[in-house]
Amino acid sequence: MAIRRVFRIDNEEDKKILKTHCRPVKLPDPGLKRLVADMFETMHANNGVGLAAPQIGLPIRLCIVELPPEIEEREDGTTVVLAPAQQFVLINPKIVKSSGEEVLREEGCLSLPGWYGQVPRQTWVTVEFQDLGGKWLRLRRADGLLGWAIQHEVDHLNGILFTERIRDLSTLREVSRTPESNEVAA
Ligand code: ZN
Repeated sequence: MAIRRVFRIDNEEDKKILKTHCRPVKLPDPGLKRLVADMFETMHANNGVGLAAPQIGLPIRLCIVELPPEIEEREDGTTVVLAPAQQFVLINPKIVKSSGEEVLREEGCLSLPGWYGQVPRQTWVTVEFQDLGGKWLRLRRADGLLGWAIQHEVDHLNGILFTERIRDLSTLREVSRTPESNEVAA
């Protein structure tokens, strides 16, 4: 596995790739498993909850999302895992249905590290996608962090950056992350 370089919105050459409408992935593709492993490693190295292939310079319709584990701290200081981390690999994803209701979320992007802004997103989306074997799957009414991350990643595959979704640009600001900060980037 290898950590790949994350392309940046504020680099003109990188931005050309990030602004590309990505092409569909033809399955099966024997090289994809290794690429997906690299994407997870790159995402972890950058503390993200998602990553799209164009963010590592590949204009193809492939993205990943990982929901962090739910951990509860007990009074005696020990912790208990309520739910393990959940990983999603979405190939050729299509949002087929959305709530029609918007919510503003504090959102960041690994292609513009440290910057966060208020982005309007659908409260939930239903997405169809292929797995590595080429099988079509459907995720119904993905909401919360998962729904948000899917919308952010599918935007990447269409060459749309989160900064372009922000209506009130005064909300875009640089934040120095602390261990307590709960801003998320993808
Ligand atoms: Zn992003």
